[in-house]
Amino acid sequence: MQAKLTSYGAAHTVTGSNHLLEMGGQKILLDCGLFQGSNLLEERNQQAFPFAPASIDAMVLSHAHLDHAGRVPKLVREGYSGPIYCREATFELSRQLLLDAAKIQNEDYERAQRKGEKADPPLYSSEDVERALLQFQPLEYGPPKEYSALMIGNVQISAQVAGHIPGSASLIFEADGERVVFSGDIGNIRKDVLPDPTPCPEADLVLMESTYGDRDHRPFEETMLEFAKTIEQASKTGGKILIPSFALERTQDILFHLARLEEEGKIPQLPVYVDSPLAIRIEETYQRHLGELSEEVQAVAAHKNPFMPANLHYSNSRDESKALNALSGAAIIIAGAGMLTGGRILHHLKNNLGRQNTSLVIVGYQPQGGLGRLLVDGAQSVRIYGDMIPVKAAIHTIGGFSAHADRTELLHWSSNAGTNSEIRLVHGEMPAMESLAAALNARGQHARIQPPGDGRAVVGGYSNTGE
Ligand SMILES: [Zn+2]
Repeated sequence: MQAKLTSYGAAHTVTGSNHLLEMGGQKILLDCGLFQGSNLLEERNQQAFPFAPASIDAMVLSHAHLDHAGRVPKLVREGYSGPIYCREATFELSRQLLLDAAKIQNEDYERAQRKGEKADPPLYSSEDVERALLQFQPLEYGPPKEYSALMIGNVQISAQVAGHIPGSASLIFEADGERVVFSGDIGNIRKDVLPDPTPCPEADLVLMESTYGDRDHRPFEETMLEFAKTIEQASKTGGKILIPSFALERTQDILFHLARLEEEGKIPQLPVYVDSPLAIRIEETYQRHLGELSEEVQAVAAHKNPFMPANLHYSNSRDESKALNALSGAAIIIAGAGMLTGGRILHHLKNNLGRQNTSLVIVGYQPQGGLGRLLVDGAQSVRIYGDMIPVKAAIHTIGGFSAHADRTELLHWSSNAGTNSEIRLVHGEMPAMESLAAALNARGQHARIQPPGDGRAVVGGYSNTGE
């Protein structure tokens, strides 16, 4: 094996995806994402890259999520001047998410300064984002034979459908008779908004995500039945139904299923408010790139907007958002942030958690110690913007909306890689990676957990950084 892979992020952890592939005499960077979650992890975003950005020949971006693309403007500001290859939809979504991230970092920093609190300066400005976007170049799906082959030196690059968010790709690199595959984030197999992922081809080396390597999702049909029942029952209280959601992917997923359930007569036609300017822009990208979506969605799109329940409203301005406080009667409000770490959802929670007829419907992961987890665990009162708010609302948790492949689907995705391939696991917590590695090795493949390659001491394959 001549190709060499070094992982500077998403090794022994989920976030911060950043890997260096040295192949065919080229240095190719795969993803450049933010570390997210604990303060310890987020501190790493401020650190210098453990490689010289100017020494990289080319960069390839698997998809637009910030844990994969969120440090790209920093990389460019610190000297990377080469091309950044990705799907057109990934370019558009990266633009929206990175500009939003720059704005939030700046607002957080200014707020901390006003209060005299210590805070890290923003990683980059919106000008840095716009400058980085000038280096983005398009990348098509499919074997290079059907498109003009993308070559970096003598390394041939092709992309295939990953089915995780629009524009998400698994990347295939070929040089000197070797094939290396980078999975990116792999989506799941179900009748839904995104297409099914294309399985991994035969390969010499596979760098593979393992987020859900130790567990399966509940069947999606069960999730849908519970979601419909929850909305139907909540509508009878006459109160607000709050759904915290990420602006990208989960919001469009929820809108698609609300529209479908209404049409099937399984839920009443309620007013639905999407209280997120970012979600409005993201839906436009979905409409422009219908080819990135599933056949089911494309079939609906032939005669109507697939993301439009009968009574849908978008709130763009702050005034439109505030006006939702005065609404009477049952209504669904979808707002970010999905993990309740900030954003407009906090205002809606502050105003409505104390009412008995409010329903909070949690459709995404809530981290330990966060507001969402406190509510799910039955807190009697919670602090929001400095005030203690009593919790009288009904809290519903609906699992199964994940955009990631589960254990069975990861094993299916990698089954064609071949018994000669070396599979390196990244983008997972240790228990998930250990469990998946054991399953892969048990069926004759050669899997191991990719160690972090940033020069830190590694003991027995485990990082000693405490992550
Ligand atoms: Zn992702």
